Amino acid sequence: MEKLIVASNNKNKLKEFEAILGGRYEIVSMHKAGIDADIEENGTTFEENALIKARYVMDVSGCAAIADDSGLEVDALQGAPGVYSARYCGRHGDDEANNDLLLENLKDVPAPRTGRYVAAIALVRPGKEPIVRRGVCEGEILFERQGTGGFGYDPLFLCETGETFAQISMEKKNAISHRKRGIAAVLAALDAEARA
Ligand code: IMP
Repeated sequence: MEKLIVASNNKNKLKEFEAILGGRYEIVSMHKAGIDADIEENGTTFEENALIKARYVMDVSGCAAIADDSGLEVDALQGAPGVYSARYCGRHGDDEANNDLLLENLKDVPAPRTGRYVAAIALVRPGKEPIVRRGVCEGEILFERQGTGGFGYDPLFLCETGETFAQISMEKKNAISHRKRGIAAVLAALDAEARA
């Protein structure tokens, strides 16, 4: 099976990539590939950041790599937190503080507080053109947390099933998530390439 390094150290994302792509590729974490780096995400779009991460890993390993850059866009906040989702509160990866700040910034906004999870997925392979695709999950931001699963903004994100992403099983989330949809679009592009 072809080896694919996932350019992320986020355990939750690694599990999602493994669950979605594991049957088709040998999924290898950065850690397992011996790559120890905190890649600076200084792009202004999800697509740019995904490509920065995937290219970095391909350049140091010589292997094909896949990366996502994802986040939450809230309409009433003009798309914030967007590419700053992981560090909305000023510290990287403090999910509780990020959720608190989101609720605070939306406190005067009536329901439905519409928004979406977005994931840009970049697949890079030595000597080939990169494939970059986007997956989207529309939803609403609740007034209080519901559910204990998932990560990040999941307890506040009401998805199309009428539950939050923190209330549904990982299998159910993986079937409809923005990452799943972005990865499916990348796989469709690969299949089209193979047929061309
Ligand atoms: P990244 O690791 O730079 O792509 O940052 C992604 C950030 O967006 C995470 O730290 C979360 O705050 C948020 N995020 C992205 N996808 C999800 C998800 O599936 N559930 C919850 N939060 C997410």
